[in-house]
Amino acid sequence: MSIAENIAAIRSRMEAAALAAGRDPREILLCAATKMNDAERVREAVAAGVDCCGENRVQELVQKQPLGAYSGKPLHFIGHLQTNKLNKVVGQVDLIQSVDRMELLEAINRTALRLGLRQQILLEVNIGGEAQKGGFTPEEALAIAGRMGEFPGVFLRGLMAIPPISQKKGDNCKYFAKMRNLFIDIERKKYDNVSMVCLSMGMSDDFEDAIAEGSTMIRIGTAIFGARPKPMAVEPR
Ligand SMILES: *Cc1c(COP(=O)(O)O)cnc(C)c1O
Repeated sequence: MSIAENIAAIRSRMEAAALAAGRDPREILLCAATKMNDAERVREAVAAGVDCCGENRVQELVQKQPLGAYSGKPLHFIGHLQTNKLNKVVGQVDLIQSVDRMELLEAINRTALRLGLRQQILLEVNIGGEAQKGGFTPEEALAIAGRMGEFPGVFLRGLMAIPPISQKKGDNCKYFAKMRNLFIDIERKKYDNVSMVCLSMGMSDDFEDAIAEGSTMIRIGTAIFGARPKPMAVEPR
């Protein structure tokens, strides 16, 4: 199947999942997770009508952007972000979804103020409480949202989560539901410098469950582009 055919198939599954949940399908955006796919393949996804692109690595972003990979669609950063690479990201992307620690939030704020702009961000929540994963606890995310007035260089637009790898369909519904509740809690507080418009959750294996639980943006890699090459486990002889 071509990239365009894959996207059409995802769109119809998104619509069915939204309607089954009594939601308007237009509430849910499709973000192409473009890691390890070259500029030409990303352009194909953009032409086939994804709503935005999400890049994981700064190095890939700076390679593909000049080649027009994302042209015409918003670009998001969705991977682990090191503070020494912020000059290449802040102001270059429409949204940084993966703000996963206080040090990074402070550094994005400083960089944006220096550049004279306001960077839109999401807070990444470690909703499964996994030790190996970054992200704030739900309690931390709530507290930070309440302090957003202290960070005039950023604008909090919502939350992102990557729940634990699920074994079977439905496993992650409880995490997605927790995220929706946190999202609504923060929205209701009407905090300064916060506008909760994006709840980014759901990937190739679980996006229908995420939509059922209130996701407004799914991030899809494999189901658009096919399986990514796995790094080789052993040296070839
Ligand atoms: C790779 C990636 C995705 C997409 O994962 P698939 O399972 O391939 O759809 C989504 N979000 C993030 C942050 C990713 O790194």
